[in-house]
Amino acid sequence: MEPLEELETRLREIVDLRSAAAVLEWDQNTYMPPEGAAARGRQIATLQRLAHEKLSDARVGRLLETLEPWARERADDDPGACLVRMTRLDFDRATRVPPAFTARFADHVARTWNVWTKARPADDFAMVRPLLERTLEMSRELAGFFPGATHVADPLIDQMDPGMTAASVRALFSALRAELVPLARDILSQPAADDACLKQAFPEEAQLAFGGEIIRAIGYDFSRGRQDKTHHPFMTRFSWGDVRITTRVKERDLGEALFSTVHEAGHALYELGTARELDGLPIGEGASAGIHESQSRLWENVVGRSRPFWHHFFPKLQAAFPSQLSGISETTFYRAINKVARSLIRTDADEVTYNLHVMIRFDLELEMLEGKLAVRDLPEAWRARYQSDLGVSSPTDRDGCLQDVHWFGGQIGGVFQGYTIGNVLAAQLWEAALDQHPDLPEEHARGEFGTLRAFLVERLHRHGRKHLAPAIIEQATGHPLTIEPYLGYLKGKYGELYGL
Ligand code: ZN
Repeated sequence: MEPLEELETRLREIVDLRSAAAVLEWDQNTYMPPEGAAARGRQIATLQRLAHEKLSDARVGRLLETLEPWARERADDDPGACLVRMTRLDFDRATRVPPAFTARFADHVARTWNVWTKARPADDFAMVRPLLERTLEMSRELAGFFPGATHVADPLIDQMDPGMTAASVRALFSALRAELVPLARDILSQPAADDACLKQAFPEEAQLAFGGEIIRAIGYDFSRGRQDKTHHPFMTRFSWGDVRITTRVKERDLGEALFSTVHEAGHALYELGTARELDGLPIGEGASAGIHESQSRLWENVVGRSRPFWHHFFPKLQAAFPSQLSGISETTFYRAINKVARSLIRTDADEVTYNLHVMIRFDLELEMLEGKLAVRDLPEAWRARYQSDLGVSSPTDRDGCLQDVHWFGGQIGGVFQGYTIGNVLAAQLWEAALDQHPDLPEEHARGEFGTLRAFLVERLHRHGRKHLAPAIIEQATGHPLTIEPYLGYLKGKYGELYGL
């Protein structure tokens, strides 16, 4: 076998094992009976261990050494050369972390997650504190396997958002924060929007049907996917031909299922748009946490909470829910879905305040990793930051530092910045799309989304993970990541909404 062919064959087996694990995870979060949990956890761990063993096999290292001189001679965009370059990064990462540590960490995380599922409803931080202290130690240990990093969090950030560092994220966030805090203050000094029209009784079946209609219109292809219900909505890819989404429905909150459905469909459109010839290879999927989130937030917020979008869909929504919405105007509805409010819960936050929630987590994460903040002081530090940044603070830890699964179901470090990078990049992509197609808002007002979708496929989706995130961002938008389009977008939209 030729070396490239052999490498591809080995990598396809790894993707197969991971995809099989993803099917098991999807089932675990949708249809699995509760008593299946213990065996399922073990089955998923077995598949992941096999995938890790195959990736860190010394033969992969030798194939890379053989192929690297060849890859250097190829064009920058050559799929084989891209595969060699990205596999080198994956291989180095996989071989630096000892398998014994990975197994120990996976065990610890499973135990922590289990305790967190009881500690959060009981509002009992002390119950999970010793485990979180251990998570912090192990996160530092994990970072330590990557010597040469400037900041302890750098390897953890790089894992989720390749090419980003603690310093580059900090610079981005502090510039953004300097603008967002006064913008939020100005908006919040205005009379609050009335969102009562969203808080009526909306039957579940009709909500699911309407959500399905919307995501079909923006291009989600049900012959290559499906939607099921879950507690925490997610998207998952098994192959190019099977990219699934999940949602949850709240009967008395129309926005919940509607926008989470559009959000997950945005993630799915990205995976569905990757080039078919890359399918089954590790370069045939989304490129980073931030780029992935840019796709969900672009469809959910920039498109899905825009006036043109609802100019088309609101009459259809009224027809689906005549008793609840026939007396509501399009403008009232538009204001309701864009209500800005101080809130305690990240996942409920509006577009303007959402990033402040993310920055609090990112800063606290770094302080813990730097040894400046002890885990036992986390609840108070959390409250203080919410008070100073958002003007609210939770008397409970349930709605405070226990609210997100991330630190309790994985490592501390690198797990939050992607959300804000996604928001920033969504606006940057939208600006690039508008630049080329100024008629997009008019098309959206007619219920036509093909132009935007085709733009995203051409500039971003089809390239998968052939390059590192910063190169992909530059290729897609013509610029490195920048906050200007995002600030312009927020100030334009919310300035108009709140008469600033
Ligand atoms: Zn998302």
